Amino acid sequence: MTEHAPPAPEQPPADEADVIVVGAGPAGATTAFYLAQSGLDVLLLEKSRFPREKVCGDGLTPRAVKSLIGMGISVSEQDGWVRNKGLRVIGAGQRLELAWPELSSYPGFGLVRTRHDLDEALARRAQQAGARLIEGITVTGPVRHERTGRITGVVGRPDGGEDRRYSARVVVAADGNSSRLSVSMGLRKRDDRPLGVAVRTYYKSPRHNDDYLESWLDLWDGDRLLPGYGWIFGMGDGTSNIGLGLLNTSAAFGHTDYHALLRKWLKAMPAEWGFTEENRTAPIRGAALPMGFNRTPHYHQGLLLAGDAGGLVNPFNGEGIAYAMESGEILARTITQALARGRGAETERVLAGYPHALSQEYGGYYTLGRAFVKLIGKPGFMRFATKHGMSRPALMRFALKLLANLTDPGGDATDRLVNGLSRLAPNPE
Ligand SMILES: Cc1cc2nc3c(=O)[nH]c(=O)nc-3n(C[C@H](O)[C@H](O)[C@H](O)COP(=O)(O)OP(=O)(O)OC[C@H]3O[C@@H](n4cnc5c(N)ncnc54)[C@H](O)[C@@H]3O)c2cc1C
Repeated sequence: MTEHAPPAPEQPPADEADVIVVGAGPAGATTAFYLAQSGLDVLLLEKSRFPREKVCGDGLTPRAVKSLIGMGISVSEQDGWVRNKGLRVIGAGQRLELAWPELSSYPGFGLVRTRHDLDEALARRAQQAGARLIEGITVTGPVRHERTGRITGVVGRPDGGEDRRYSARVVVAADGNSSRLSVSMGLRKRDDRPLGVAVRTYYKSPRHNDDYLESWLDLWDGDRLLPGYGWIFGMGDGTSNIGLGLLNTSAAFGHTDYHALLRKWLKAMPAEWGFTEENRTAPIRGAALPMGFNRTPHYHQGLLLAGDAGGLVNPFNGEGIAYAMESGEILARTITQALARGRGAETERVLAGYPHALSQEYGGYYTLGRAFVKLIGKPGFMRFATKHGMSRPALMRFALKLLANLTDPGGDATDRLVNGLSRLAPNPE
């Protein structure tokens, strides 16, 4: 009797999937992870190859830590994560150490990790869950239905190869701040929403083991205090990540030499910290921070936007990783429910609910954030707020909760105040 090999398990066609996710940063990797976990066939297309660098401050608040833990990523120090206890704020000649709040909703510590490591860890986690990650492929545009214009796939160009079509029922744009895919579907950045620009580099420093994230509120342009802040985050590897960011609500935005401002700011630091040109280990590089729903709508003709592509950076503090990951999770859950409804109008109705889900989560809070960036863009207000805030630790503890978006639903009086304000603020999609 001849023995027959068991039939090979059916492989999905290489260029078809339930969902295509474009970009494997924190938003894309998280989206792909949750989609794959619910059993969907996911293609995750990334133009670079891991590990790769990404311009960032490398700071993770307890919000981001929660998302990492939720994906089953070990955040122990043995695995290379550097923990921090809170935020040290320096301004108006004062220095305040504010511990991360004790909450049931979020862990009581933050982390620091290079994006070189963080993004690879997230992408590999998505792969482990079953997502098909293809690295070294640049998505050059959407494939659209001839009649309806709906996105039905994308064209990808592999490094040194020929264009190839990929098709899926739904496509996710997680391709970062510029989001070429969103633009080619007609979704541009909104001029009425905040945008930041930030630069960063690394210096060898004895302060590399700092167990607080440090934020400097005094960024001076002559006699004008700029709306933005500088940061010094110890990387635990002999270097500190140092950078600064400004908001487009100030007159200085667009007229500032960021490299010169960084050098000027560091010049005033104590020599023993080592923030000198000889100790700089990387070029000064910058990028934009799209904030407060800076690109809408978040769902359009089969395309859903996550992370920076959807302008989801927190306008209060410039944090983007947590929001990229959280939006990826919300989006993946929406798609899972939508695709389970079969095809047609029902699926569409669920997908169209994604902007509302985002708005429920962040809408009111981001409205407050937009008002905040307008206020600190006014000459004089930033100076007033720094001077009066820094001499009132209780007020600064409240500010930390507000600015880092760290509260419990039925928490203490400050939690209730922050939550109440967010609830009262208009909630646009
Ligand atoms: C200087 C600076 C400092 C910052 N510091 C912090 C900080 O300390 N903490 C924090 O939380 N946030 C910080 N941010 C914000 C944070 O970096 C972003 O919010 C975050 O990276 C958003 O994640 P994302 O996945 O949406 O986009 P990205 O991280 O930009 O990922 C997008 C991915 O898509 C890929 N891609 C792009 N185009 C294509 C294409 N056509 N085809 C295929 N792939 C494509 C890219 O290669 C990339 O891997 C900082 C930003 C800047 C500029």
